[in-house]
Amino acid sequence: MMLIDSHAHLGMSDFKRDLEQVIQSAKESGVGYIFTVGTEKKDWERVLEIAGSHPSIYAILGVHPHNAKEIGDQTYLVLKDLCRNEKVKAYGEIGLDFFRNLSPRDIQLKRFREQIGLAKELGLPIVVHDREAHRETLEILRSENAEECGGVIHCFSGDDEMARACMDMGFYISIPGSITFKNAEAFREIVKRIPLESLLVETDAPFITPEPFRGKRNEPSYVRYTAQKIAEIKKVSFEKVAEVTTENALRVYRLKG
Ligand SMILES: [Zn+2]
Ligand SMILES: [Zn+2]
Repeated sequence: MMLIDSHAHLGMSDFKRDLEQVIQSAKESGVGYIFTVGTEKKDWERVLEIAGSHPSIYAILGVHPHNAKEIGDQTYLVLKDLCRNEKVKAYGEIGLDFFRNLSPRDIQLKRFREQIGLAKELGLPIVVHDREAHRETLEILRSENAEECGGVIHCFSGDDEMARACMDMGFYISIPGSITFKNAEAFREIVKRIPLESLLVETDAPFITPEPFRGKRNEPSYVRYTAQKIAEIKKVSFEKVAEVTTENALRVYRLKG
């Protein structure tokens, strides 16, 4: 039995004190691989260093919509260079965050489009962040022909229609720990209708800690609570969820063959 945490932020300072222990405890909980995401310039080297020193950890690099306003002349050149590292398996997370709006919306839209182009140039799948911007996210994925690179919609928060549209473009849908929350009944109903063959599981650690640890720091070993909840709502075994989501992650991040 193996699980894959398709999305975590091990480079963040929350893990500074006990990173090795966190990685060890993930291993002991059956998490075979962790994909750790560097979202801004100051993260990238750290993320590559972590991936480079752990066979079970891979890297995802890009500029988060929160940081879209920081992109300058050199940013894409630096990223292009770093993404040639063999441990980099996807480009991201990129997209739109119209909830926090830490970068102006017009800049987020522009940088999202540009970075889809860059991912295609690099031959990498993309990892998409969409918060309260479902319509615009879909519109950009379509108009930029994102099905050419494919990838993952991480921390999925859309409806049935959004899930269908993303799957039709060949995207996988990654489910975070919020599926375990008491008030997430509507979300569980949506996930119930998404075929297991399109699902990944993630922690987004240190954020979105699942029950029973909600309120504490999240870490990759907790991805099993998310998988367990998916098994419950789909009425299949935990082993089946682990097996299929692992296959899916290996396929989208091209770890096979
Ligand atoms: Zn995100
Ligand atoms: Zn993230």
